[in-house]
Amino acid sequence: MATEAKRPKTGDEKSVLEPLNNFLLWCESVQLTLSDKVYLSKEGTAAEYGMLAKEDIEEGHVLFTIPREALLHQGTTKVKKVLEEGKKCLESASGWVPLLLSLMYEYTSSTSHWKPYLSLWPDFRTLDQPMFWSEEECDKLLKGTGIPESVITDLRKLQDEYNSVVLPFMKSHPDLWDPEKHNLELYKSLVAFVMAYSFQEPVEDDDEDEEDDEKKPNLPMMVPMADMLNHISKHNANLEYTPECLKMVSIRRIGKGEEVFNTYGQMANWQLLHMYGFAEPFPNNINETADIKMASVYKAAAQVARSEANQQLLEDKWKMLCEMEVVGEKGVFIFGQSGSLTYHELYTTLKVLCMSSQIFEDFRENEGWEEDDEDDDDKMEQDLSFEGLASLSVEWKRLLCVAATETLDSYNEDVETDRRLMEDQRALAELSSRERRALYVRLGQKNILQRIQQLTK
Ligand code: SAM
Repeated sequence: MATEAKRPKTGDEKSVLEPLNNFLLWCESVQLTLSDKVYLSKEGTAAEYGMLAKEDIEEGHVLFTIPREALLHQGTTKVKKVLEEGKKCLESASGWVPLLLSLMYEYTSSTSHWKPYLSLWPDFRTLDQPMFWSEEECDKLLKGTGIPESVITDLRKLQDEYNSVVLPFMKSHPDLWDPEKHNLELYKSLVAFVMAYSFQEPVEDDDEDEEDDEKKPNLPMMVPMADMLNHISKHNANLEYTPECLKMVSIRRIGKGEEVFNTYGQMANWQLLHMYGFAEPFPNNINETADIKMASVYKAAAQVARSEANQQLLEDKWKMLCEMEVVGEKGVFIFGQSGSLTYHELYTTLKVLCMSSQIFEDFRENEGWEEDDEDDDDKMEQDLSFEGLASLSVEWKRLLCVAATETLDSYNEDVETDRRLMEDQRALAELSSRERRALYVRLGQKNILQRIQQLTK
C-alpha cells in the first residue's frame, strides 16, 4: 500500500494520497483484501492510477480479492428497490440505464457507501474518449478508422436514452434524483465512465443448455480496485469470478517494480480508443485489426463485371450471399495480424463472386454447397492467412487488392506519411495526446491493409 511519508506532504502529494488512503481504508472495511506484494500508485504507471509490484510475484498469485457485496450495480445500490419496481420502464437498447441511474445517485450522494471509491474520480477530467472530441477533430484525426461513425451513433443513443427513459424516471422519483443536478452532462460522463471502467462477467459455458448461443451477456458492473488496473495486450493478470468473490490473479511472473496489467479483452486499438480513450503505441498491440467493408469487395467485383449480363450475375450472387447471411449491407471482413479473422464469410464471398454463371446456377439450385464442394474451416483459414494470400487465384487476389486499396484511400493521409511521423521522434513528441493516439490507431490498421495489398498485387 502507499508508503508512510517521513516528511511533511506537499499539496500535490496530499491531493493524490488522501483519496487513495480513504479508498484503502474503505477496502479494509468491506473486506477487500490486497496482497502485500502490490501497491497502488499514480507514479510509474501507464496512466494515472495503476498497480505496481513491490517485490517479485510468481504466476498464480492472488493480487486482491473483492467480495461480491463490494461491487456496485443495480442489485447493490441504495436505490435498488425503485430500480427493481421500475424494471419494465427502464428497459433500453444498451441495458445500461439501471447502472447509470445507480451511479448518478451514488456519485452525488454525500452518504453513499461507495463514496471513498467514487471520490477517486472527482470530476472525470481524465476521460478523453473521442465522444468528447469535436466532430471536426474526430473527422480530421480518425477518418477511415470507423470511430467517427460509432461516436455519432453513441451520442445519439445516449441522448435518446436520457430524454426518453432516464428523465421521466427521475421526474417520477424527485426524492432520489434531481434533473438539475443529474443532467445530460453528468449522464454523458457516467456513460464514458461505464465504458472505460465497468466489467461484464463472462456468461457461463453450459454444454447442457441448448440455447447457449442465445444467452444474453451479463449487465455491466463497477468493480472497485480491479478498475484501477491499466491494460496492455501482453497483460500479466486476469480477473477470475467465483460465486463469493472476484480475484485478480497473476498469469505470469511479475518482476519487482513492474506494473500489474489487466486485460480489458482482446481489443484492437480502434476499440481501445473508442471505449477507453487510449491506444497502445504502434506496433505493440498484438490484437490489432483492420476492417474491409463487404461493400468494398462488391464494388471491386462490379469493376470487372462490365457487360449487362455480368452485372446482373453479380447482383444475383450478392443477393444470394445476403440471403445466406454471409454478407450484410453494413458488414465488414476483419483482418488480424496473421490474416483474415472472418475467413468463413470472406472465403464464401470470394468463391461465389468468382464462380462462372453455370456453376452459380447449380449453386443456386442446390441453395448452397453440395457437401463435397464445401471446403473445411482449416483450409479457409489457411488460404486466407497472410501465408496463404499470395497463392490465391488471380481473380480472388484482385478483389482483395482493390478492396484493400479502396480502404486505404478512405483515410485522410497515406500510410507512408503516418509511418514517417511514427519514425520521427521529434515530430512524434510534438503531437498532442489526441493526435498521437489517433496515429497509433490509423497506422495499426493501415499496416495490416498494406500487407493485404502487397500480398495480393
Ligand atoms: N488509470 C485508470 C485511472 O487512473 O483511473 C485506471 C484504469 S481504468 C479501468 C481505464 C482507464 O485507464 C482508460 O480509460 C485509460 O484512460 C487508462 N488506461 C488503461 N490502460 C492504459 C494504457 N495502457 N495506456 C494509457 N492509458 C491507459
